[in-house]
Amino acid sequence: MKKPRLSSHLRLLFIVAVVIPAALLAFLAVRAINREEAFIERQYERTFSAELVHVVGLMTDELDRVREELDRTAPSVAADNARLPFAQWKEATPLVRTPFLLSPQFEILWPNPSSASSPDELAFINRNREFVTNQKEIPVYQNIAVVYQTEIAGLAQLPSGAQVEAETKPGQVETRQAEAQPSAISKTMSMAEKKDENKAAGAPPATSQDRRKASPGPQPQEAQADSLKSQQAVRDFEENENIRQQVYQQARERGQQPTLRNVAPGAGEARPEKGKRPESIFISEPKKFSQIIAGRESGLIPRFLGEDFSLFFWKKDGGGRIVGCVIEEAVLRARLTGRLPAAFTASRVLTVLDEAGRPLVTPREKQARDWRRPFVSREISALLPRWEAAAYLTDPGLIRSRVDLTAFVLWALVLTFLVSILAGGTLVLRTLRSEMDLARKKTTFVTNVSHELKTPLTSIRMFAEMLKEGRQPDPRRREQYLDLMVSETDRLTRLINNVLDFSRLEKGQKQYSSKLLEANRLAQDLVQSQRLRLEHNGFKVELRQAAEPVFVRADEEAIKQAVLNLLSNAEKYSEARQEIEVEVSSQGSLACLRVKDRGVGVPAAQAKKIFQEFYRADESLTSRTKGTGLGLPIARRIARDHGGDITYAPREGGGSVFELRLPRSEPS
Ligand code: ADP
Repeated sequence: MKKPRLSSHLRLLFIVAVVIPAALLAFLAVRAINREEAFIERQYERTFSAELVHVVGLMTDELDRVREELDRTAPSVAADNARLPFAQWKEATPLVRTPFLLSPQFEILWPNPSSASSPDELAFINRNREFVTNQKEIPVYQNIAVVYQTEIAGLAQLPSGAQVEAETKPGQVETRQAEAQPSAISKTMSMAEKKDENKAAGAPPATSQDRRKASPGPQPQEAQADSLKSQQAVRDFEENENIRQQVYQQARERGQQPTLRNVAPGAGEARPEKGKRPESIFISEPKKFSQIIAGRESGLIPRFLGEDFSLFFWKKDGGGRIVGCVIEEAVLRARLTGRLPAAFTASRVLTVLDEAGRPLVTPREKQARDWRRPFVSREISALLPRWEAAAYLTDPGLIRSRVDLTAFVLWALVLTFLVSILAGGTLVLRTLRSEMDLARKKTTFVTNVSHELKTPLTSIRMFAEMLKEGRQPDPRRREQYLDLMVSETDRLTRLINNVLDFSRLEKGQKQYSSKLLEANRLAQDLVQSQRLRLEHNGFKVELRQAAEPVFVRADEEAIKQAVLNLLSNAEKYSEARQEIEVEVSSQGSLACLRVKDRGVGVPAAQAKKIFQEFYRADESLTSRTKGTGLGLPIARRIARDHGGDITYAPREGGGSVFELRLPRSEPS
């Protein structure tokens, strides 16, 4: 009755302690492996991005140096004798390509428009006359994050929950924050407008870099705080897609056009579709020359003429005139290139792309690269619009192969874990089950032993009472009663011996005292001692001895105990056909003693188990006959201790055959 409940408990335990954790582990592993690609991509992206920030720093630093060098070397010239000092300037400073001089009223004093002779001078006048004479506006580039730093600071302080969401899922516009947007914008708008008022003089909002230039020497605290603020704004702008969207929107509403970048950086899922380019961090606004230079002493101006890019240097001289030059492009490029770190490493290729998306340095490679599709890239400066510092994976399959390797290692680990969990769990539960089985068998054993003891005691008591009361006048009968009492007492002793021996045998403490025995005689004695009782109980008992004497060296009492256990079983498990046969024979070096019956037999599936301690065949089958489940294990232990064995075989025509085999011995 208890057994099914027990195993259903164990099944539940197995599911809770083994199957669920194993399934969970497998699930987590699969998830981790699936995210591995994105994770590795992000790792590379971070490393390369940090390098690009450094490269951008080097480039802006070099531009600073260029400006400082030109500032330092620019000659102060009189309008009528500019030729010589300009020639010397050009000579001394390779950065100078076409020097120019403007009057405080923005008239071109040099190169003289009427007598300009060199192609450079002619080109300068043709291309730039309208701009430098302050008649035509040109687009001026500014870092949008710096221009809108106040607004960005406002947006960045929105509820942090919305912020985190937006940061972790770039590319997705957070609706919650979008709803919060109007109030945030109106709050920051007023600040932005105030800022615009400050700029009413027409000075372009300076980029952080320009500010640095505008305040040489030790920075006042305010300027330092300002620079920190703009750095934070750039960071917030770069990291938060939502802020980016809103700021671009505001810029567009004010007529400031964000340009498109030359490149489409990204990898894997983050990679934009071909031909789709992201917006630049630099916005342009048309300004006149006078507006650009207002409030500053010198500077650089990037200028596009169609696809032609050139960089201007200008400086106000003491008399309000403006000295400047068009910078020699090749020299500028060479100087920027000179600052670049190693272009080629095992994992990445690093370069700077110019306004047309052409790399400044191209490492020698077998395959052509699409320079416009870097793994990561970063815009350089408002002074070099459309230029990018870009990093590419040296081997595009690098991430895939790293993912494959990690996935392989992870899978191997996970499978090992799973197998260990399952095998360990199964083993533990099996042990648990057999322990529980054993405990259950021991309980049954105690009940059975009590019952077994009672049966012979009842017979003994009954015969003793009959003799005491003198109810049996026949002396032959009285003799029989006494024999039966002795036989029952034997049975009782054997039972008690079995129980006592069991623990001794289990611990290997049983002592044997061997002597030479003759198997035919041994069998005869045993049958003799049991015959009366068996026949009294209706059994037909037959003894078949071997033709010749069969000697064995053994402990007589122990062997008798083993055979009696077999005989007792033959009696217990017989039903209608009560026939027992004991047969002695010799087979080569073995002496055999078989106990055969015509009883219920043992189902094939249990033929091996019946020799296990406490094991009793199907409860329902054996419930009528009581037993301890110790008879066979003890008998086998004794046989094996003597170098022999006991085996079971079904008997032809029904019943069982238990065979005791012992090594034969010669009489000395
Ligand atoms: P017990 O007889 O006390 O139950 P045993 O160890 O002697 O314990 O026997 C174990 C089981 O083997 C028995 O419960 C019975 O099912 C089976 N068995 C033993 N001898 C016979 C037999 N002669 N015929 C049928 N079944 C037997």
